[in-house]
Amino acid sequence: MDFKFSKSEEVIQKVAREFAEKEVAPLAEEIDKSGRFPEETFKKMVECGFTGIGVPVEYGGSGGDDIAKVIVVSEIAKKCGATAAILSIHGIFGQTILRFGTEEQKQKYLPLVANGGKKTAFALTEPNAGSDAAAVKTVAVSDGDDYVITGTKCFITGGNLADYVIVFASTDPSKGVKGLSAIVVPKGTPGFSIGKVEHKMGIRASQTAELIFDGCRVPKENLVGKEGQGFKIAMVGLDGARIGVASQALGIAEGALEESVSYMKERVQFGKPIAALQGLQWYISDMATRIECARWMVYRAAYLKVTGQPFTKEAAIAKLNASETASFVANKALQIHGGYGYMQDYPLERMVRDAKITEIYEGTSEIHKVVISRAVLG
Ligand SMILES: Cc1cc2nc3c(=O)[nH]c(=O)nc-3n(C[C@H](O)[C@H](O)[C@H](O)COP(=O)(O)OP(=O)(O)OC[C@H]3O[C@@H](n4cnc5c(N)ncnc54)[C@H](O)[C@@H]3O)c2cc1C
Repeated sequence: MDFKFSKSEEVIQKVAREFAEKEVAPLAEEIDKSGRFPEETFKKMVECGFTGIGVPVEYGGSGGDDIAKVIVVSEIAKKCGATAAILSIHGIFGQTILRFGTEEQKQKYLPLVANGGKKTAFALTEPNAGSDAAAVKTVAVSDGDDYVITGTKCFITGGNLADYVIVFASTDPSKGVKGLSAIVVPKGTPGFSIGKVEHKMGIRASQTAELIFDGCRVPKENLVGKEGQGFKIAMVGLDGARIGVASQALGIAEGALEESVSYMKERVQFGKPIAALQGLQWYISDMATRIECARWMVYRAAYLKVTGQPFTKEAAIAKLNASETASFVANKALQIHGGYGYMQDYPLERMVRDAKITEIYEGTSEIHKVVISRAVLG
């Protein structure tokens, strides 16, 4: 058993940490307040090859694996939860094509979305199909060489900006969940339009949109995997994505702890730095303990995935634990900052808001408990 980073992982962490400090931190407050997508940061993440991590070099990616992704996403999340979410969720499209796409699809899409600057989205959720993803009502009707897609997706991260969206739609509603298929819909396809762009509590710079498909015609060559394989593709995508959300949560928690440590050394009350107060020291102890647990669970889930072992249960445990840790730690960090923590001049209230989403998306905490208990009970 070896709990150390390799030399190359240490380099990745150093590069990601510098990037987060230099490129991500300075914009975090502004993009949270404005809700603006940070185009300039996305472009720089493309230039650094962060968007291509996990995609092999021969397909235009950066190589690397899920451990590298955890490192980069968590370093960025220390400074800005929204930017980390943008990077993490962008990767799901490429991973889905890599795992289930044809050779032709890999050659067509991966160079564009890995380090080619094209944006992506993963559209599963519908107004009446959230936790119950099998209740998807969007249909893709076969018509000659095309599918004609009709339905509405909601809460889709980056859906309003994406060049390519993987849409989950039923190609055979009579088969229920076994009729679901995954289909790539490019931006600008007639019949595909953007509905409401949400105003959110946190990760405000990551856009969240409603996508409307009204007789949207795409060629059958855009089908990913086989007809009827969509639910499996979605679940496999979410398994991997949960490690990504857990990494966002881990980073937010680590960032909130760092803020607290420096504040406690500076802030003086009763004639001494508040770091001398035992009540607050115990907060730090609780925060550090929970972060340590979360960190090893996230890296273990990533390790299992990288080494080709089953990781569904471990990814669910890591996501459940890291997201609840992020909310706990961010709240405690705000408390340690007193009234200043409640003000927007400090990043704590943003961290509390950004942490909350990690308990909800890519499956809520309650759904993770369903996944974990099923795996344990058999
Ligand atoms: C900011 C944001 C970004 C998102 N990005 C994407 C995206 O890119 N792509 C995408 O497809 N989706 C996305 N989603 C959707 C997200 O995955 C869903 O919101 C989430 O899965 C929960 O579904 P729901 O909101 O419909 O809640 P519901 O399913 O209606 O849940 C309501 C409550 O019931 C609980 N509950 C439901 N079922 C059970 C059960 N069996 N046992 C116990 N409790 C249960 C839930 O935990 C929750 O507390 C995003 C959501 C948000 C908020």
